[in-house]
Amino acid sequence: MTDTPNRTAIVTGASRGIGAAIARRLAADGFSVIVNYARGRDAAEGVVAEISAGGGRATAVQADLADPKGAATLFDAAEAEFGGVDVLVNNAGVMKLAPIAKTDDALFEAHMAVNLGGVFRGMREAANRLRDGGRIVNFSTSVVGLKLPGYGVYAAAKAAVETMTHILAKELGPRGVTVNAVAPGPVATELFLSDKSDEQVAGITRMIPAGRLGETDDIARVVSFLAGPDGGWVNGQVIRANGGMV
Ligand code: NAP
Repeated sequence: MTDTPNRTAIVTGASRGIGAAIARRLAADGFSVIVNYARGRDAAEGVVAEISAGGGRATAVQADLADPKGAATLFDAAEAEFGGVDVLVNNAGVMKLAPIAKTDDALFEAHMAVNLGGVFRGMREAANRLRDGGRIVNFSTSVVGLKLPGYGVYAAAKAAVETMTHILAKELGPRGVTVNAVAPGPVATELFLSDKSDEQVAGITRMIPAGRLGETDDIARVVSFLAGPDGGWVNGQVIRANGGMV
């Protein structure tokens, strides 16, 4: 597809899971893509190789988004490599579940550093450096609506992201920049599957009216819409992509 010639997208946390699917999809849509990773260098290089083999353009860039300099590193790399940035997908995230009574400060700080701090600094960098007409797609979770036990700190960070999404949409609207969030339900990735028994996964799957877990491409399609020409009139929204699991 060539409806996005010379446009560049940064996808955070694109070495695996949902982010890798988004990177592949946006490259197929015609974007040059910065494939960000924290620790998974080989996996990120694999995503880049796949994109290149398909005729797309991509570069892997290491940046730990818990580090205050992480977001700026990604924009510096994108500008140097591709000349500017049109889309930021703030996908990188971590999740460890615990009841609030058992959540220690380290777990709280780790979630806030990446899931809120990393996303905030990405939004701030994008607000200053995205080209006019650009797009920001943040990542929340359907658990903000479901409010399930064990998800207290994780969901609280994502709820804050949703609030900032609405506010930044109003701040950047005059420049034609849209700011939206995607809030997936359960998607079969390491983040969701690790630390859960088969029985727990089956129980959660039964809560999804569509009768299956989400796949990474289910979410990449939504991001493609928001980042592409058809999504231009959607701004300040949270899209709960979850097979009906409200
Ligand atoms: P995943 O499979 O665990 O992948 C997480 C990605 O984030 C990896 O590429 C990882 O990179 C990166 N990452 C983690 N910490 C980072 C940091 N400090 N700096 C930069 N990158 C970092 O997770 P996923 O399921 O694809 O989740 C993607 C997003 O969707 C997250 O925001 C998550 O909260 C949200 N979400 C997921 C689900 C679900 O069921 N899967 C549901 C709702 C929302 P490295 O491997 O290189 O460290």
